[in-house]
Amino acid sequence: MTDQQHYDVVIIGSGVGGGSVAYQLAGSNANVLILERGPVLPREAQNWDPEAVFCEERYKCNDTWYSDGRPFRPGMFYFVGGHTKFYGTAMLRYREKDFQEIEHEEGISPAWPIQYADLEPWYAKAETLFGVRGQEGIDPTEPPRSTGYPFPPMPHEPVLLDIEKKLKSQGLKPFPMPSAVDYGSGGICQRCENCDAFPCKIDAKGDAEMKLVRPALRSPNVELRPGVCVERLITDDTGKRIVSVEVKEGDKQYTIHADTFVLSAGAINSAALLLRSANESHPQGLANSSDVVGRHYMTHNTSAIMAVHPFKINNTHFPKTLAIHDFYFGDGKEGSEPLGGLQLLGKIREPMLRGPLSYVPKFVRHALASRSVDWYAQSEDLPHPDSRITVRPDGAINMHWHRTNLPAHKRWVDKCKKILRGTGYPIVLSESFGTEVVSHQCGTIRFGNDPKTSALDTNCKAWDHDNLYVVDTSFFPSSAAVNPALTLAAQALKVGHHLRTEVIGCD
Ligand SMILES: Cc1cc2nc3c(=O)[nH]c(=O)nc-3n(C[C@H](O)[C@H](O)[C@H](O)COP(=O)(O)OP(=O)(O)OC[C@H]3O[C@@H](n4cnc5c(N)ncnc54)[C@H](O)[C@@H]3O)c2cc1C
Ligand code: SF4
Repeated sequence: MTDQQHYDVVIIGSGVGGGSVAYQLAGSNANVLILERGPVLPREAQNWDPEAVFCEERYKCNDTWYSDGRPFRPGMFYFVGGHTKFYGTAMLRYREKDFQEIEHEEGISPAWPIQYADLEPWYAKAETLFGVRGQEGIDPTEPPRSTGYPFPPMPHEPVLLDIEKKLKSQGLKPFPMPSAVDYGSGGICQRCENCDAFPCKIDAKGDAEMKLVRPALRSPNVELRPGVCVERLITDDTGKRIVSVEVKEGDKQYTIHADTFVLSAGAINSAALLLRSANESHPQGLANSSDVVGRHYMTHNTSAIMAVHPFKINNTHFPKTLAIHDFYFGDGKEGSEPLGGLQLLGKIREPMLRGPLSYVPKFVRHALASRSVDWYAQSEDLPHPDSRITVRPDGAINMHWHRTNLPAHKRWVDKCKKILRGTGYPIVLSESFGTEVVSHQCGTIRFGNDPKTSALDTNCKAWDHDNLYVVDTSFFPSSAAVNPALTLAAQALKVGHHLRTEVIGCD
């Protein structure tokens, strides 16, 4: 092993969490190094090719994880920018009540140790950085905002304009889905058909590489090393401070030292890394005297819903412009429990149906895909201590996803189907997502006010270590029922500001 240089701050992972911290530290007097296991994603024809992305799984990681002993290849993507290279650009704030305790049919969604008001200015900053397009004042569950959206919403295409009208005629309040794409006057988005789950070939998607990492790298104090995988965090003899990380870069293994470490490897990998770094002072893994690391894994209860009209072709190019939150907190009846949200999904094409509908002839899959309007129903997954990421003796990740709140999700999907039939689509099919879809992973290193029941304080600093911060969706104590990236960005920008002003001592 060779020893590398010493840095003031080492950030592990270049997704929304790591990227936001790097963005906040750019231009400070700290030497910052971002370590990213993946490469910069190549801009190439295959970016927009459903065969390459869905059938050949060109960009999916080659990890083998286990679900209660069963091996599987998880839906993980290791690139500079992390999962946002593939995300659907839906950038929603959590609802104000999502930060408080909420009773669900199968248990409690716990309160966060911070309130919506603590994050509100950071939500506004995150929306500006990501260039979010939206329209306030329509979503019935929208939290209070100090600012409008930076840009007007993506306009609906004709098929969706008609559906919006029909949803309104059912008494619902469909709202324009906030999304981060560089569209409109001076924008370069081409409204291609390949946004959700595809990388953007022309860099028009507001992802963490384009909006956080690249801008941070314009400052000479921030360095990025792609292709470097952190294998272990090392503490000093007291166990109180992290002193270095052991990394692997191709065939080379070496150690990097720093004063402060920010772990942002994603909720599952960050938990696994802390568990793999167990040592004499911390036999249960680092940051884990509370025994919560790896527990409370959540990833939303989600279903894809295809609303099909046999005689209508859906030629929409950018479908993610509409969402419904009318039943987010319940169906309005006294004592009813939360159901969830419904939002448009990226356009489903024939290659995407080959897995779930392999038994159906290709021409039928093609006919379905060309006629469907595709939706995404999302309900809260509650934290359960046995829903858990562990590390096997061979170092591989094992997941036990203790699913919660499924009856509520099923009720929500049934209600969505009724709503969608009411928009004039007689055939409505649904398929729920399984264990290998880990897109909305969160909760595995929760923050809180009590070191006995949480791993991190409200600045995302590990209670057990003086210089370790964990800033990815692992800190979420609950998953709510909206997409996580904007909430992560808001808290990560806040933590980055804390590091810059309080830890590094820079303006
Ligand atoms: C297909 C898809 C669609 C989605 N759509 C939406 C959406 O529309 N809206 C929304 O809000 N959310 C969406 N999400 C979820 C959203 O993308 C994630 O919640 C968010 O990007 C998570 O950011 P993160 O920083 O926690 O982790 P990640 O994005 O996973 O970043 C972690 C980074 O760390 C790197 N890394 C991991 N281990 C190591 C290691 N040991 N050493 C060095 N580097 C390491 C990884 O390569 C990765 O780049 C979607 C996700 C997917 C996959
Ligand atoms: S819709 Fe726009 S932002 Fe999305 S991938 Fe296509 S060009 Fe890029």
